[in-house]
Amino acid sequence: MLNLYNSLSKKQEIFVPIHKGEVGMYACGPTVYGFTHIGHGRKYVTDDVLKRTLEVLEELKVKHVQNVTDVGHLVSDGDEGEDKMEKGAAATGKTVWEVAKEYTDYFNKVMKELNVLTPTVICKATEHIDDQIALIEKIIANGFGYDTEEAVYFDVTKFKDYGKMFNQTFEDKTIGAREEVETGKYKKHPADFVLWFKRVGKFRDHVMHWNSPWGDGFPGWHIECSAMSMKYLGEQFDIHTGGEDHLSIHHPNEIAQSEAATGKKPFVKYWMHTTFLMVDGKKMSKSLGNLYRLSDLAEKGFSPLTLRYYFLTTHYRKQMNFTWEGLSGAKNALAKLNKTVIDLSDVPVTADGWSDEGRDYYEKFIMAMEDDLNTSLALSVVWEMMKSKISDGAKKNLIVVMDSVLGLNLGKEEILDIPKEIMDLLAKREEARKTKNWEASDRIRDEILAQGYRVYDFADGAKVKKI
Ligand code: AMP
Ligand code: ZN
Repeated sequence: MLNLYNSLSKKQEIFVPIHKGEVGMYACGPTVYGFTHIGHGRKYVTDDVLKRTLEVLEELKVKHVQNVTDVGHLVSDGDEGEDKMEKGAAATGKTVWEVAKEYTDYFNKVMKELNVLTPTVICKATEHIDDQIALIEKIIANGFGYDTEEAVYFDVTKFKDYGKMFNQTFEDKTIGAREEVETGKYKKHPADFVLWFKRVGKFRDHVMHWNSPWGDGFPGWHIECSAMSMKYLGEQFDIHTGGEDHLSIHHPNEIAQSEAATGKKPFVKYWMHTTFLMVDGKKMSKSLGNLYRLSDLAEKGFSPLTLRYYFLTTHYRKQMNFTWEGLSGAKNALAKLNKTVIDLSDVPVTADGWSDEGRDYYEKFIMAMEDDLNTSLALSVVWEMMKSKISDGAKKNLIVVMDSVLGLNLGKEEILDIPKEIMDLLAKREEARKTKNWEASDRIRDEILAQGYRVYDFADGAKVKKI
C-alpha cells in the first residue's frame, strides 16, 4: 500500500483514492514570466514519479491536471508588488501574451527533456476567466467574500480552520495577503486576500483585464487553481501538489476559497509539497536570480536525465543542495547504470514479466516507492538487482518495470552524457571559430572525431553526437 506524507495532517497516511481505481491529481503549474530553472525541475520530476508510481505500481488511472499561470500574479505570493507577467514583458520589450507563450513553450520543452509525462489536462488561467468569476460569485453568495472599491476580498475571519495547513493564526504576519492592494483601507482584516482586482489606482493600466460583475479587472492569483482544479477533477479530489512555498499562502487560500464555495470538506484529501532545491546553500528562485537552466548544465556536458537521476538520489521532502560535484557523481552513476542496461540490449523482454528469482527485488523496489516515494532507496535496489547473480532475462524484465517508474530512459544510447574532455574540446573549437582560426577549428573537430564524436554546427553554436 502506498504511504504518502500529507502536509495537511502532517503525517504519513495510506493512500486510498476517493473513487476506486482512479486518482484525481492537481499540480500547481508554472508562472510563465521567466525561464524554467532546475528548481522547477525538482518539483515536476517529483510529481512525475508520483504519477508513474500510482499508474505502474498501484495500477490506478491518474487524471493529472496542471495549470499555467499566464495571467500575472503579483511579485510576492501575497497581493503586494508588481504583476509578474508585466515585469517579464517590461524586461524584454514584448507583450505579456508573447512573454507567456514563449515561457510556456520553454517550460514544456524542459519537461520533455526531463522525461516528465505530459499531464492529462493543461489549463491556462487566461482561458478560464469565466470559471473564476463564477467561483467568486459563489463565494460571495455564501457570505465569504465582499466587494470594495479596490478589489473583491475573501473574508478569512468567516472561514474556520483558515491557515490550518501551516499552523497559522490570524496574529501571524505570514498569513494570507500580507500587504494591501493599494491603501488597503477597504479591507476588513489584514489577512483577507484578493479574489478579483479592479482596474483602478495603481492597476488602472493593467494590460490583462476582463469584464466582471465587479467591473473591469483581473483575477487574484489563488482563484485560478481552485476554479480549474474543481472544473476538471470535481469539488473534491485526491492529490494536490506544489512546492513548499505554497504551504503558507497559496494553498491555505485555495482550501478556503474552494470549501467556502462548495461547503464540502476536504477540498483535497492529500497535499504533497516538494522541498525547494537550493544552490550552494542558498534558496533558488526567479526573484533571487541565482538560477541554473538545463542549458547551463548542457554547456558543462550534463544531460537533463543526469539531473533527473540526481534529483532521485534525495527524497523529495529532504532539502537538496545542488552542487556541480553532486551532479558529476550522478553523471558517473547514470552512465554506469546505462552501460549495464545497454549490455542487456539483446535480451528479450518476455510477456510474463520477471521470473521468481527477481521477485525479491521487485518487492523491495515497491516497498521503497510505497514509503512516501523513497526514490534514493529504490535506486539502491536497482543497483543491487543489476549487480546480483539473477539471470539476464530477469534483470531485463525488472529494469524495464523499474525504469517505467523512475523515468530514466535506461539503456537508450542517445541519453549518454558527453564526456567533459569532449565538451572542453568543443569549447576550445568555439573559441577558435570566434577568432576565425579555421585551421585550429578543423584540427579540434578531427580530434573530437577521433574520440568517437561528430561535430554539428548550428546557428547558436556547435553540438556533438556520439557516432
Ligand atoms: P513558479 O513558476 O515560481 O510559480 O513555480 C512553479 C512550481 O515550482 C511551484 O509549485 C513552486 O513551488 C515550484 N518551485 C519553484 N522554485 C522551486 C525550487 N527552487 N525548488 C523546488 N520547487 C520550486
Ligand atoms: Zn496553484
